Amino acid sequence: MVIKDVDSKLIIKKFALEGFNIQPKAIEALKPFIPNEIDGIVKHICKCCSGSFIITEDDVKRILNNLKSLSDSKTVQNKVSNNVTQSVQVIKDVSGKSCCQGKIEDFVAYFNSRYDKIYSILRTRTNPVRISDLRRIRSQNVEVVGIVDDVRETSNGNAIIELEDKTGVVNVIATGKLKDEAMELLGDEVIAVSGMWNGRFIIADRIIFPDIPINGNGKRNWGFCIAFISDTHFGSATFMQEAWQRFVNFMNCETGDDRAHKLAESIKYIILAGDVVDGVGIYPGQEKELSIKDIYTQYEFAAEQIEKLPERVKVIISPGNHDAVRQAEPQPKLPEEFASLFPKNVIHVGNPALITLDGVRVQIYHGRSIDDLITRIPRLSYEKPHGVMVELLRRRHLSPAYGKRSPIAPEKEDYLVIDEVPDVLHSGHVHTFGTTFYRGVFVVNSSTWQSQTEFQRKMNLNPMPGIVSVYNGERVAKLKFA
Ligand code: FE
Ligand code: ZN
Repeated sequence: MVIKDVDSKLIIKKFALEGFNIQPKAIEALKPFIPNEIDGIVKHICKCCSGSFIITEDDVKRILNNLKSLSDSKTVQNKVSNNVTQSVQVIKDVSGKSCCQGKIEDFVAYFNSRYDKIYSILRTRTNPVRISDLRRIRSQNVEVVGIVDDVRETSNGNAIIELEDKTGVVNVIATGKLKDEAMELLGDEVIAVSGMWNGRFIIADRIIFPDIPINGNGKRNWGFCIAFISDTHFGSATFMQEAWQRFVNFMNCETGDDRAHKLAESIKYIILAGDVVDGVGIYPGQEKELSIKDIYTQYEFAAEQIEKLPERVKVIISPGNHDAVRQAEPQPKLPEEFASLFPKNVIHVGNPALITLDGVRVQIYHGRSIDDLITRIPRLSYEKPHGVMVELLRRRHLSPAYGKRSPIAPEKEDYLVIDEVPDVLHSGHVHTFGTTFYRGVFVVNSSTWQSQTEFQRKMNLNPMPGIVSVYNGERVAKLKFA
């Protein structure tokens, strides 16, 4: 007993030094780690909980679970010729773990997972009551957390949000400025609302998004660079071979420009965020816009093009909606049949995938839901794709609107929740380019290597092709190859 008390005090002290209070039950959950690993774990938990002051049992369990899947995950370590060690860890990826059959129970489990994950983020900043418990309350200020079932405008110019938790449904009225905020809800996101409960509904005074902590992870120079590319569309008749070759030359230090060589040499990783090939049968009449009409040959060509990049660079490839994997997200990595065509320095992951590169956390997501957000929220646009990605971070979800243009497979776990705050959020899909920093997270949408297709011309979509951003944790370089 005495020993136990000493341990508790030790843990409380360690958290206090980092500026946190820890609940007694949370301490219990940490006991198995005493004393060997405790320092590292305390630091990790504090990093994950920045933005709150109290560490709960839920926090500890969630973070320890994530750590477990990290140690279960594949670690790819290899020494390259110049003695640089590269470490790629896949932290969250559905590849090889998909288990949904699309049954009703699957959908229930899927939405419960979404609710639970985001609830645990929101409850660090709110004190929610269960919706069924509202019946016992007469009239007072309350906070509730729920999944948005529906949002609609009322005849008198307000908005009604239908909010559901595991115990019931409640109507929330949003008036004035809050109405505009409510009308930006997509449906199916998990939010908190605070407001006055009057016995029948809640009159909101605040809509609270799970969001990411204000300082995020902060900037620091990693000592190496990552280059971000997307939507190569190999096999398309409008694939920009010359622009791609200029990028290849840059990466191989063949431009004759010393500064460019130095930059290229500092790049340890390239991430390709999907639509590797143009695919077949993706949209009506696509066959007329293909230079390679067969999917296998498209991937053979893709592999040849990737092979032109220097061997010293690890290339991480995630699929998109044009690739030969299931359309519903989360998408697994490319099947072996195609993956095996690529050179050894390529690592295939699913979409989305949370990975770390030498400890730098990158959330990769192709970006299909960007279409849904632009359709719903008038102030967002294809010209500023990074602005849309910020909305994903605010919602802590990569595809908040279920059943719109982005199909979702109801896995038992919601892989699209942004559980952990990444250092980088990387997408593509919309073929435009944009970067921003949001609360310390580098947000990048990586353009394309395909000029305007006939289909895009008809849809009035104007691509910004051939742009690569290179980031070292501190500074961004934007390179144009087209
Ligand atoms: Fe694309
Ligand atoms: Zn796409």
